Amino acid sequence: MKKYDVIIIGAGPAGIFTALELTKLNEKLKVLIIDKGREINHRKCPARSSGTCVNCNPCAIVNGWSGAGAYSDGKLSLGVEVGGNVKDYIGEEKTAALIKYADDIYLGFGAGKMVYGQDDKRVDEIMYEASKHDIQLVPCAVRHLGTERAFKVLGGMYEHLMQNPNIEFRELTSVQEVICEQEKAVGVIACTHGKGAETILADYIVAAPGREGAQWLTEQARNLGIKTINNAVDIGVRVEVPNAVMDHLTKDLYEAKFVYYSDTFDNKVRTFCMNPGGVVSEEHYDGHLAVVNGHSYADPNLKTENTNFAMLVSTSFTEPFDEPIKYGKYIANLANMLTGGNIMVQRLGDLLRGSRTDYKRLLKSTTRPTLKTAVPGDLSFALPHRHLKSILEALKALDNVAPGLYARNTLLYGCEIKFYSSQIKVNQQFETPIRHLYTIGDGAGITRGLMQASVTGIVVARDIVKI
Ligand SMILES: Cc1cc2nc3c(=O)[nH]c(=O)nc-3n(C[C@H](O)[C@H](O)[C@H](O)COP(=O)(O)OP(=O)(O)OC[C@H]3O[C@@H](n4cnc5c(N)ncnc54)[C@H](O)[C@@H]3O)c2cc1C
Repeated sequence: MKKYDVIIIGAGPAGIFTALELTKLNEKLKVLIIDKGREINHRKCPARSSGTCVNCNPCAIVNGWSGAGAYSDGKLSLGVEVGGNVKDYIGEEKTAALIKYADDIYLGFGAGKMVYGQDDKRVDEIMYEASKHDIQLVPCAVRHLGTERAFKVLGGMYEHLMQNPNIEFRELTSVQEVICEQEKAVGVIACTHGKGAETILADYIVAAPGREGAQWLTEQARNLGIKTINNAVDIGVRVEVPNAVMDHLTKDLYEAKFVYYSDTFDNKVRTFCMNPGGVVSEEHYDGHLAVVNGHSYADPNLKTENTNFAMLVSTSFTEPFDEPIKYGKYIANLANMLTGGNIMVQRLGDLLRGSRTDYKRLLKSTTRPTLKTAVPGDLSFALPHRHLKSILEALKALDNVAPGLYARNTLLYGCEIKFYSSQIKVNQQFETPIRHLYTIGDGAGITRGLMQASVTGIVVARDIVKI
């Protein structure tokens, strides 16, 4: 039976940066990277060219080399406050230093030089304007790769790693179980598409399965007796408006991260993943569940007339309920049920009047939907009252800083759900109480974005090599 030094489960940014740092520190280490999706050059999302999702299993948007990063907008958030909780584990100073370190690696693989959100005077002006309406602006410098460049940059890392004969990548292979002996991880049981289950041994296991594998990881943790802490689940919609409504914010910030506490429920509502000139997209979980997302290209020729962003309501459940992922999936399922498995779109004006948007009404919309497969419907049948009301109140408040947002033809797509899932109990090096088993990235509930996911990989690699 073949034995490796390290097995990495998941080839997203967290897994890739683990491998990059491991080989940089010791190129002789035998590393196996396993992913249930395909190698980067074999990854293709039919919906990106034809506009029609054909429900690939596994979904090419979130699975395969580069994970959810491949088709992402590629916004690298350069602040410690954004994109995860890494600073709670390793401290602010170290997080900032590792973000800089990882950013340099991204630059080395071809990331663009431009960084947004660095004009302090303009940031202060926007912050002041927002504060007059009880809105908080979370300032954050952002480097924007753009979807096409994100694919190339992370693909470049594949080419680089594969030059080392000690690094192996197995595509279309799903890890089913982590094997432990005497409280120590010793291997995994994995199943390659079309073949039977196989046991593969290693000295160290790094689990980086992303949001797609979050539920699987939580179940593994529970089976192994590792404590999990429930994270909030973020539920909401994707908002789409003409660029003109947001341009004055996005040209300086790229992404305007706003937080508003809703009037009725005092719930935290935040904007997230803003894509100027972008397109609304869909991704699929568990082979069927359609949830909405968005991205944009760096190439000016591929820019659209619209800006989209998520508007999310954070909900933390307390006893006795401890299944936030199931709850989020239940809401997404409900919306899918009403549209025959597609993303739902509604004009804000129709929602406010209590009417469903139908194809005729959608045709009248002056904001033209960029997600062509979205089915017009009524979001109030899917989203809980608490969430919908909070989103509407936040949109109304944000209209003060982005006039035209709370308008009849603003499009709302549902549902956008962020499965941050359970936080797996780990130490400062992201090692679980099971020795030599590390859990990192989005799937471990530690991060929410490319940059911090990458940072977790570097921390783990350095711990394994003990520097
Ligand atoms: C459309 C879209 C746009 C986004 N835009 C941005 C953005 O602009 N900026 C930003 O910071 N973030 C963005 N994100 C989020 C970002 O992509 C993620 O935060 C990041 O990719 C998380 O990295 P990760 O390595 O933890 O997990 P992932 O990238 O999700 O990778 C996990 C990998 O593990 C594999 N896997 C799961 N379970 C198993 C298993 N059991 N066995 C084997 N393999 C498994 C999956 O196939 C996947 O390839 C976006 C995401 C999407 C979908």
